[in-house]
Amino acid sequence: MSDTIPCIDPSTGEAFDSIPRGTAADIGAAVDAARAAFDGEWGKRTAAERGRLMHRLSTLILEHADALAVLESRDVGKPLAQARADVTACARYFEFYGGAADKVHGDTIPYLDGYTVMTLREPHGVTGHIIPWNYPMQIIGRSVGAALAMGNACVIKPGEDASLTTMYLGRLAAEAGFPDGTFAIVTGYGEEAGAALAAHPGINHISFTGSQEVGVLVQQAAARNIVPVTLELGGKSPQVVFADADLDDALPFLVRAAIQNAGQTCSAGSRVLIERPIYETVAARIAERFATLTAGPALEDHDLGPLINAAQRERVAGMVDVARSNGFHVLAAGRIVPSAPTGGFYVPPVLFGGVDPDAPLAQQEVFGPALALIPFDGEEEAVRIANGTPFGLVAGVWTRDGGRALRMARRLQAGQVFINNYGAGGGVELPFGGVKKSGFNREKGFEALYGFSTVKTIAIRHG
Ligand code: NAD
Repeated sequence: MSDTIPCIDPSTGEAFDSIPRGTAADIGAAVDAARAAFDGEWGKRTAAERGRLMHRLSTLILEHADALAVLESRDVGKPLAQARADVTACARYFEFYGGAADKVHGDTIPYLDGYTVMTLREPHGVTGHIIPWNYPMQIIGRSVGAALAMGNACVIKPGEDASLTTMYLGRLAAEAGFPDGTFAIVTGYGEEAGAALAAHPGINHISFTGSQEVGVLVQQAAARNIVPVTLELGGKSPQVVFADADLDDALPFLVRAAIQNAGQTCSAGSRVLIERPIYETVAARIAERFATLTAGPALEDHDLGPLINAAQRERVAGMVDVARSNGFHVLAAGRIVPSAPTGGFYVPPVLFGGVDPDAPLAQQEVFGPALALIPFDGEEEAVRIANGTPFGLVAGVWTRDGGRALRMARRLQAGQVFINNYGAGGGVELPFGGVKKSGFNREKGFEALYGFSTVKTIAIRHG
């Protein structure tokens, strides 16, 4: 058994580095170190001091932005501009949560005569963070950032396919002055290091972002230790375009939400529901754009990079084949540029028209650049189709009718609804998470700070 895992460049299919293959013993040591930090130096820091350290880390991340972006682009295969955006977002999370650290506080509660009652917001203790490969820096920023702000000590298990920027962030955290054990990282396989972290009795809260199947395992492991979990799982997010929408405004969002990070985004807008009177027009305009899209080496910064690995490429290609055999029309496909090495994990983006809302392509997360267009008639049917999947992460509504926009926002089953936009520029400040099989509890914004803390009530009887 090798004690390292190769880092494969998805753009070439070749190994360019390696990471340690962490074991349950390594997880145990990291949890012990985190506990020692929490019980010791870290636990004594004031909220303002924690905030200052986080601001220092944010500044360091920006100072190292070029190196981090190139490393992420290489390790994950994401186009360089998208990797740069991830660095900026990561720095912004530490800035936001650094600023928030000393602004979360408890309450005093009116109670019986002769009593004063107050609540304290306290950290859980040691928090575990299991991170996927698709947005490592952003997800560490939002989850570890919020946990540290509340005073927890964090043990982080990045995805085995994309750990290098996490390790880099760990070095920057040490340079910023975070005490040993507060930003503890263990790389390794999910079923080894990840499972050991989820099951460790010394963990007081688990935050998991990844697939539904593994989310179930993590929740089961947490249940045995009776610790809270945050599950951020997949999605099949709809964008609903009504006939009165401003199409010039909507089109760039519709395309970008489907192909960003080659479709490997939990909140990808992977279904576009189009009101029938404008269906042909919108389909033609999206197809026009899809036909120009290129996939190529990440550092060359095309519209799309490769997918993360060979298994993911096979999975996506298989789902595209099923959609073709279901008889759905390929309205357009992009192309792979000639400079793309043959060993890379490229798939061309593909646009399917007239997709049956109950077909696998419209029900299952592809996690690749395949967009399904679905016609609908009227608000009622739009709601039925949009809500008709097991997921509920994000939804978009495009209309000029304010009343309809609000009706839709209230009726759509999703953790976030965007009206006449999608993604809102990343939205560090905006609570994010799912309903139904997309998970529960919230990250981002102030909401995450409540999730990474617990409330203690102190009732004082003084007469
Ligand atoms: P994954 O579930 O395979 O892996 C996620 C993490 O879990 C990795 O670190 C992996 O090593 C670890 N893991 C795997 N098996 C484990 C086990 N048995 N016990 C504990 N940990 C284990 O997911 P992925 O393929 O890396 O990521 C893609 C999925 O993540 C998609 O479904 C996507 O929608 C979802 N995702 C959701 C969000 C969100 O915020 N809702 C964000 C990004 C990705």
